[in-house]
Amino acid sequence: MATVLIVEDELSINKLISKNLTLIGHTCLSAYDGVSAVNMLTETPPDLIILDVMLPGLSGFDVIRRVDGIPVIFVSARVGLEDRLRGLDLGAEDYIVKPFEMQELLARVNVVLRRFKKNTDVLTVDGVTVDFGSRTVHRSGVPIELTSKEFALLETLIQNRNIALSRDKLLDLVWSYDYAGDTRTVDVHVQQLRKKLGWKDRICTVYKVGYRFDL
Ligand code: CA
Repeated sequence: MATVLIVEDELSINKLISKNLTLIGHTCLSAYDGVSAVNMLTETPPDLIILDVMLPGLSGFDVIRRVDGIPVIFVSARVGLEDRLRGLDLGAEDYIVKPFEMQELLARVNVVLRRFKKNTDVLTVDGVTVDFGSRTVHRSGVPIELTSKEFALLETLIQNRNIALSRDKLLDLVWSYDYAGDTRTVDVHVQQLRKKLGWKDRICTVYKVGYRFDL
């Protein structure tokens, strides 16, 4: 997994992002102002930077100018189109407006990390190997055929490991927001995944919520 530098002067937000990213397996570093962020870049270069725009000392827009080759996601309370465009213009991969849903931030972090690590991640659990680069799955060395939705669901569950996801959230993330189907679609796909991968306990049912991939 990745090392993520969180640059955010609001202690509670910084801690919350850090806690959630750590939960899904990332290593987090925190900076609370622009100057320390720039110093940390040279000491321990992270794989990704989550960067607030309004910071004491150097602003996020100043900090990104000193970043070379590391993807940046801006998080900002500044909702104006001008700020958003400026952020993207300066080379940010994404720009998320505060307040945001943690799930959305995690999803976008994963998208950016995948893009930059050129999809080479492989996860092996209980004899099942999931290759996110080739989008293939093997169980005890034998290839397992998954439909594209089954793979997308598996990917989403793994990316949000140890976090309970509601059926609605899974519909949003895997089938996209405008999908007209109902949540039983999610149940059917989860059953299929459990059967194909032998992951009855790994993908657990969270009572009255949905599902969680335990690792
Ligand atoms: Ca701030």
